[in-house]
Amino acid sequence: MHHATAGSFLAIPGVVWFWILSVIGIGGVVFSLSRRFQLLTIGRPAERFDRLGERFKHMMVFAVGQKKMFDDPFAGLYHIFIFYGFLVVSLRTVSMVIEGLFAGWQLPLMETGFGHLYLFSKDIFEVLVLVGLAFAVWRRGVQKKPRMIQSFGAWLVIGLIGALMITDIGSEASRIAAGAMDGAFLPVSAAVAALFKGFSHSALQTMYTTMWWVHLAVLYYFANELPYSKHFHVYTALLNVFFANLDAPGKLPSMDLEEIDEDTRFGISTVTDLSWKQMLDLYTCTECGRCREFCPTTLTEKPLQPVLLTKMIRNQLYSEQNQLLGSPGEKGSASEEELVPVVVDPEIIWACTTCRWCERACPLDISYVDKIVEMRRNLVLEKAEFPEEAQPAFRGYEVNGNPWQLPAEERANWADGLDVPLASDGDFEYLFFVGSPGSYDDHGKKVSQAFVKILKEAGVSFAILGAEELTSGDAVRRLGNEYLFQMLAQQNIETMNAYGVTKIVTNCPHVYNTLKNEYPDFGGNYEVLHGTQLVADLVRSGKIHLTEAVEEVVAYHDPCYLGRTNGEYESPRFLLNAIPGLKFREPDLARDRSMCCGAGGGRMWLEEDLGSRINQLRFSQLEQTGAENVAVACPYCFSMLSDAQNETGHEEAKTWDVIELVARSLRT
Ligand code: SF4
Ligand code: SF4
Repeated sequence: MHHATAGSFLAIPGVVWFWILSVIGIGGVVFSLSRRFQLLTIGRPAERFDRLGERFKHMMVFAVGQKKMFDDPFAGLYHIFIFYGFLVVSLRTVSMVIEGLFAGWQLPLMETGFGHLYLFSKDIFEVLVLVGLAFAVWRRGVQKKPRMIQSFGAWLVIGLIGALMITDIGSEASRIAAGAMDGAFLPVSAAVAALFKGFSHSALQTMYTTMWWVHLAVLYYFANELPYSKHFHVYTALLNVFFANLDAPGKLPSMDLEEIDEDTRFGISTVTDLSWKQMLDLYTCTECGRCREFCPTTLTEKPLQPVLLTKMIRNQLYSEQNQLLGSPGEKGSASEEELVPVVVDPEIIWACTTCRWCERACPLDISYVDKIVEMRRNLVLEKAEFPEEAQPAFRGYEVNGNPWQLPAEERANWADGLDVPLASDGDFEYLFFVGSPGSYDDHGKKVSQAFVKILKEAGVSFAILGAEELTSGDAVRRLGNEYLFQMLAQQNIETMNAYGVTKIVTNCPHVYNTLKNEYPDFGGNYEVLHGTQLVADLVRSGKIHLTEAVEEVVAYHDPCYLGRTNGEYESPRFLLNAIPGLKFREPDLARDRSMCCGAGGGRMWLEEDLGSRINQLRFSQLEQTGAENVAVACPYCFSMLSDAQNETGHEEAKTWDVIELVARSLRT
């Protein structure tokens, strides 16, 4: 209930000044946002206006529901307090602005049940926001999680939000104490108002007016500061999540190599080669550092820390804004500053293993691998600048279809004497796509032989391409050689389509990802299974029986391209559990939090001469489970982890592929 004095009490002196402040405050925000929007319009196109229903749902779960924030439950909880509190209080803030512009105006419906409910929730949320901020202060100032980036800006924003809450509670308390407002639905403000008992009406009026002015001055400052700070996500987060990549995470964007002319820019060289969505990513990063928490390059002291990469490119984009857009009313000029090597050291770009931990961790769906691979594309295709160790691998892939430059006709030598059917022999159900390690590497060959043993035992109809198989192209594509990748992909697809292939099985997660997610862009549409998926089905359906005990204790390492990228965690675990006698342990970093072995993104073929070694760090995590041995489901993980065992003096320890363990357990 408002008292008779309410109108005069609420009238804020200095209305002209408030109009001036508002024109500057709101005008500044509109100007800053329109410049940032204009900048997006000069980015490259990105197809993100499809699947609107799916996008809306994704936004509700991940942005409104803040799903990923709860990966760190404590941070998730306090961010929820701040996020929802901020939303609820915004309505009151808008009403304060209107009160200032039109003296005596009040929010409608405040005398209704809706109004009372709103006042009550606002009062409670303001306290929750303050509690959330106190937790944030503790996090930053006391706990100091290593992933966090300490900056003055972060403290400033905590202070500004705190000031908004305190001044609102203070203004409500002054109104209540002056009898200008009923405190029945504002328990916290009413409790504060009790402290002002005995204050004169004019003292309360001064207090109210001061709180009101400070609140709105802080608001305008905050709103204007956002587009220039890491807290720009307050404006952009919902949009960035709405326009997130909804395709399979492991799929890289394809370049149209048929439509090129002398003006075609390959990959990303300058900031204007970024798509508008990639620019929006840069606007949205909050520098929370979750992306670097388990980034293998960050953990092994290499120069790539995903959040810092975003900051470098964002700073460059912002620094070029005036030149690119021109002064208001003028025409801008093109960007000339090459990102690599001027802004970003090439070592940063070549360090990435494309493990996608960063993307899995980012609560705002900021992407990294597409940008990094597109920067590699520019270096490889336009400038022919890449680590020299990549050259022999590129040559091997191009001439022989394998990275070791071994003769293509020896590709099926591993199958000698095993009576393995070739696709050219006639009908089959599954094409076993062996991959280069499965064909040429000593251990890979053993896994291929074990797999054939299982398929034969189960009576599966299968065939291989033999010498007609080429590498899938996963590594060359991730090393930036899009030309060579498309050449290899087209040739494989031509071969497989000619044999009428519909189902493919492979033991290599890189082949699996590329054939399943990337070949469809080039006319290769198949049902693709990983070896562990098919074998798990064979066990479940009773086509094979695992009867022989395998007395081993193994820690299972999830390969990035099977697990995090393609969501297959259960089949290898099912098989490990099904093998009699075998015990398996889970490392702390397992499933979608698994840490990369260091081989992905073509890193298998590059030297690792900066920082410590990724494979050794991963092996130490697996070793901490107490298991003597390691089980993997990827030939590259096998190679990295067995090397790590040898490099760290654990020669007695073994790394097994899950397929080998299954074959050992088959009835003999
Ligand atoms: S993909 Fe992996 S290695 Fe590359 S930046 Fe992300 S977390 Fe780091
Ligand atoms: S990219 Fe995402 S996870 Fe990394 S700092 Fe920015 S918001 Fe946080």
